[in-house]
Amino acid sequence: MFDKVIFHIDVNSAYLSWEAVYRLQHVGGHVDLREQVCAVGGDAAMRHGIILAKSLPAKRFGIHTGESILEARQKCPQLMIVPPNYGLYEQSSAAFMNILKEYSPEVEQYSIDEAFMDMTGTRGLWGPPRMAAERIRQEISGRLGFTVNVGVSSNKLLAKMASDFKKPDRVHTLFPEEIPEKMWPLPVADLFFVGRATAKKLHTMGIFTIGELARQDPELIKYHLKKHGEVIWAFANGMDVSPVLPEPPANKGYGNSTTIAFDVTDAGTARLVLLSLAEMVAARLRSDGVCAGVVSVTVKYDDLKSVSHQRTLPEGTNITSELFGHAGRLFDELWDGRPIRHLGIHTGRISRASGVRQISFADPVDYEKLGRLDAMVDAVRDRYGRDAMMRASFARREKVRSGSRGDGPASGMYGKPGNGAAKIQNLEHMAGGVSREKWTVDYTKVPVE
Ligand SMILES: [Mg+2]
Repeated sequence: MFDKVIFHIDVNSAYLSWEAVYRLQHVGGHVDLREQVCAVGGDAAMRHGIILAKSLPAKRFGIHTGESILEARQKCPQLMIVPPNYGLYEQSSAAFMNILKEYSPEVEQYSIDEAFMDMTGTRGLWGPPRMAAERIRQEISGRLGFTVNVGVSSNKLLAKMASDFKKPDRVHTLFPEEIPEKMWPLPVADLFFVGRATAKKLHTMGIFTIGELARQDPELIKYHLKKHGEVIWAFANGMDVSPVLPEPPANKGYGNSTTIAFDVTDAGTARLVLLSLAEMVAARLRSDGVCAGVVSVTVKYDDLKSVSHQRTLPEGTNITSELFGHAGRLFDELWDGRPIRHLGIHTGRISRASGVRQISFADPVDYEKLGRLDAMVDAVRDRYGRDAMMRASFARREKVRSGSRGDGPASGMYGKPGNGAAKIQNLEHMAGGVSREKWTVDYTKVPVE
């Protein structure tokens, strides 16, 4: 059989490392945050701020990502907390991904600080897998100043498990023949896709290690844990057939995607996210005076799976509502009801906008009018800022945010946001994801040692 070579590359303490490198290289800092008892925390001023990343010294105090700043400070009163800087993370992430793309065209960005690479057939260029992985690891730390772990195997699951072995700055292999020795002794909670609740259930069944799960009767696991049981049993045995899915090259089209801060479980919220993405993509098409002839939507689930779907449009467009309409239909065809982690809209077959469009009696939409509407919205936003105009479905959410009650669920073509109303407050009406206050850090106000 022809074996694949798959890498999983994971930045060590990404947010903290990126902040540390930035302070050392660009703000004149002398202290390496990675060597301090330090964490990146969301909104230290707010009581419910959480730890987003921590240094290894902070980890030794038992500080976890995701716990509240309050809890972390109880464990370690001297903990130094630095604010998040998502703009910096995006830049660091892009530089990191660009290096990976020099080694293989098949790079799938899995999150802001993680990627899978299909390195099959690159031996002639970069040598055997381990050597190639070492080279990538060294090049990233040499050129960018932060460290990564590289997991090497023949599928995504095993590569991801391998990159999580001892950190930082290491290459680990986990080939199928190494599973019994390297993976099976680990606690079952360490298996990818086994959350706290599942681990608890497995414990009551007397399953404590990955090996114990692997050797169980799959029917029994399936009986207790349904479909999810089948998946984790296969994972415990190192089985995973999902391919590395590179995003379409950015220069060939205009696209936008976002990793959502919470799991989206209803179509209404997903549509709201798609709308915010469509707003941004369409505005960029218009500002460059071009139209897109192909639209695709990508949905990533909270396992390794990612699906996408595209359609060719009868006529090129840069109209927000039209782009969103196509994206919404593609989404409906794609989504299987599972929690969504990441959504993207990409466009292709870019052509100059002619402003002329064939009028069809079968399609009685006044595109010219919609085009004028978009042009007006662009003009207002140019002059008064992005937030000067937003869709009603987001405006209602603004009302919720500001404390007054909204008057019933938003409806109409953009659909109803579901039960995640409180979470929806965190969505941006353009682009989506991260609030703009967190986008940049004013280093004149943040003490840098
Ligand atoms: Mg990481």
